[in-house]
Amino acid sequence: MGMEIVDKQFTKIVATVGPASSSYEVLKDLVRAGVNLFRLNFSHGTHADHNRVIDHILAINKECKTHVGILADLQGPKLRVGKMKGEGLLIKPGDVLTFVQEECIGDQDRIYMSYEGFAKDVVPGERVLVDDGKIVLEVQSTNQVDEVKLKVMFGGLLQSNKGVNLPDTSVTLPSLTVKDKEDLDFILTKEVNWIALSFVRSPDDLVDLRERIETRNHPAKIIAKIEKPEAVKQIDQIIRQSNGIMIARGDLAVEVPMEGLPIIQKDIINLCIQWARPVIVATQMMESMITNPTPTRAEITDVANAVLDGADALMLSGETAVGMHPTKVINAMNAIISEVEKRYSIQGRRPFPSPKSSTFLSDAVCFNAAKLAEEVGAKAIVGMTTSGYTAFKVSSFRPACKIYIFSEQTMMLATLNLVWGVHGYYYNKFTTTDDTINDSMNILKEHGRVKEGDVIINTASMPLHARQRTNMLKVSVVD
Ligand code: PGA
Ligand code: MN
Repeated sequence: MGMEIVDKQFTKIVATVGPASSSYEVLKDLVRAGVNLFRLNFSHGTHADHNRVIDHILAINKECKTHVGILADLQGPKLRVGKMKGEGLLIKPGDVLTFVQEECIGDQDRIYMSYEGFAKDVVPGERVLVDDGKIVLEVQSTNQVDEVKLKVMFGGLLQSNKGVNLPDTSVTLPSLTVKDKEDLDFILTKEVNWIALSFVRSPDDLVDLRERIETRNHPAKIIAKIEKPEAVKQIDQIIRQSNGIMIARGDLAVEVPMEGLPIIQKDIINLCIQWARPVIVATQMMESMITNPTPTRAEITDVANAVLDGADALMLSGETAVGMHPTKVINAMNAIISEVEKRYSIQGRRPFPSPKSSTFLSDAVCFNAAKLAEEVGAKAIVGMTTSGYTAFKVSSFRPACKIYIFSEQTMMLATLNLVWGVHGYYYNKFTTTDDTINDSMNILKEHGRVKEGDVIINTASMPLHARQRTNMLKVSVVD
């Protein structure tokens, strides 16, 4: 039978796969410990590496009867300096550096910058931040063609391939780079549930990506990573154009004034709940556990606060990709999540759906499923879905009980594993509504999710065979 799998929480966990976690055994340990979705970071690794990890995850899902999802994260227009001579260049305030467009080994005379158009796009006085903002430069002059002189404002050791952020510059690079298109070609041959795009600047950035996914008839859904000030400004339209959001705090905190971060996080989470889009809080949640066996007080509190903010999922990056204690990190995160969820509820802000919406009637049914669940103390809301719509919608009303979704589409079940409070079960005997409701009750009983005497609420669409949006609620007692 194997070990029990931890999946009692509402808030989901996304873990980035890397050298510390790419083996079958570690991936399986992480699934057992409670990972709901794995992120493959296409900024690192080869297609062969990612291919192996995808095969492992799909095999683990078969072996453990889980629906762990896969998120492929595209690098997007990420800027970097090139290779540096030796261990890097030690720079100090007042030094002047030259960034060039021609690839070279960087030294005090010339440093390669991976951004065609850099010299055209920057304006003297703008800031250039290297290595997560640890090094601060200021544009002194540009020849408008291929060379930019920069004054060092805050120095340090400038190392090979470090990331560059241009918070003041309007970057003209396309949203999908040549590398992203190649990665996408590979990703779209795989059972990947979510595709994330880095450095989204406008809602239009998502259109090209969506077309490419649809052309290939792939069911993957899109996550927009919010890490540019332009994206924060147009957050409403970006949320509507995407299927989910990642608050990518790593780059975001370098690109916007850092003190804005906590409120940006809360505002984006609230908007995502309003639009029924799952939202992931990412980066440095348990950063110190890359080396330490326990988190810091600040990290414990950050994780707890993200749960209280109402995030669908919390993400780990280096902690599980390159850290020393990947499984311990998941255990610690789970312990914090479950303690917070036990003592605090995030319900009570449940806006009634808009009568103007084309989905108003079914949205109102989903809203009332959540409301009714609270009023009758239901232990479960149970739904069937082909599109996933009911799951996203019911979850967005943050009910007081779990949402169990039955579907014949394993791909959809894994996609929904990112969504707050949603747990999927494979089911393919859609005959009549009565039978389906009975079967689902029995399956939940078998799995110990509900017991005799528990009240459950079923959402359904009648007639069943028409597969329309949810239009019915039923209250029953488990017998
Ligand atoms: P990254 O995205 O890890 O791909 O940079 C997350 C972030 O910027 O926070
Ligand atoms: Mn980033």
